[in-house]
Amino acid sequence: KPMENRITDIGPPKYDQFFPPVIKKNYGKWVSHEILEPGVLKYKSETGDVVYVVRCGTPRLITTDYIREICDIADKYCDGYVRWTTRNNIEFHVTDEETLRALMDDLKGRKHPGGSYKFPIGGTGASVTNIVHTQGWVHCHTPATDASGVVKAVMDDLFEYFGSHRLPAQVRIALACCLNMCGAVHCSDIAILGIHRKPPLVEDDRITGVCEIPLAIAACPLGAIKPATVEIEGKKIKTVRVNEKRCMFCGNCYTMCPAMPLADGEGDGIAILVGGKVSNRISAPKFSKLVIPYLPNEPPRWPSVVKAIRHILEVYEKHARKYERIGDWIERIGWEKWFELTEIPFTEKSIDDYRLAYDTYRTSTHFKF
Ligand code: SF4
Ligand code: SF4
Repeated sequence: KPMENRITDIGPPKYDQFFPPVIKKNYGKWVSHEILEPGVLKYKSETGDVVYVVRCGTPRLITTDYIREICDIADKYCDGYVRWTTRNNIEFHVTDEETLRALMDDLKGRKHPGGSYKFPIGGTGASVTNIVHTQGWVHCHTPATDASGVVKAVMDDLFEYFGSHRLPAQVRIALACCLNMCGAVHCSDIAILGIHRKPPLVEDDRITGVCEIPLAIAACPLGAIKPATVEIEGKKIKTVRVNEKRCMFCGNCYTMCPAMPLADGEGDGIAILVGGKVSNRISAPKFSKLVIPYLPNEPPRWPSVVKAIRHILEVYEKHARKYERIGDWIERIGWEKWFELTEIPFTEKSIDDYRLAYDTYRTSTHFKF
């Protein structure tokens, strides 16, 4: 039976209906916050109210049992309220120190059978917080790598940086599994980017059956797809051709047209970019820039990617000044010095001639490779 007066296209619900009462009451009135220890924040309001926040990392792909456990904790300590951050952290809010201590003891005591923390506390201040990432092999059709799998391998390796403040400043890592970048890799301290390295194959024999040719042509941001006609078994068939020199292997055409696949076990891999940020503290926001053009896709633990990221992080930890994010540090020492310190080979792939970018290797007068 059709439902009457049912509004379906309503978008996301308004955020403030989910505020805990103390957040609603003090909305716009917060005057300060401090980090008491890694993963624990204290907010003070002009009304005198105080909120303590405990931030925990999650493994991102999670079971319903795990979600139930989170809800039970929220019911026990936080009147049923819990907050998920965009970086897949969970935040528990409490309003007094006694409950804060009880909550933290409880969280620290919850472990997996192997002994690892179920709810590791951290991700604040000069740490590596959880990684924001895209859909990967689980959901999307154009990925050049997995998302959650790579992120799990990287965060397992960097775990010591999650629960400490030992870095010069915060490090935000992001992963996007193709260069459409529905993740935040364009502006992250370290960005992990899945890349295809081959143009799409055109399946002439089924293209008209599975897609609209004008849509496939229009999907290409570089105008690399043109209509064509081929003859198969004496029949003229409408299809397309790709100007391979122009193609940047983005996969947009495959989004529109399943007869233009470009995933390739050997060609696909991962690029690493560094130095981006959205904050304007110390310096203006910056785009991340490509420093490692290709690393192989190595499921299930991606050792080359994990090793490369740890290496970049360790050089940063050793050489940057306090409060300098990776991009600020590179700006101070120059890209030449950065490639020298990290011993990462500079290749022509890092030379960027995107004409609307004002701040690229090519336009930098400091860059003399
Ligand atoms: Fe899909 Fe690309 Fe987004 Fe990954 S980054 S989820 S492949 S659009
Ligand atoms: Fe165009 Fe991207 Fe398809 Fe290449 S992969 S043809 S650039 S839409």
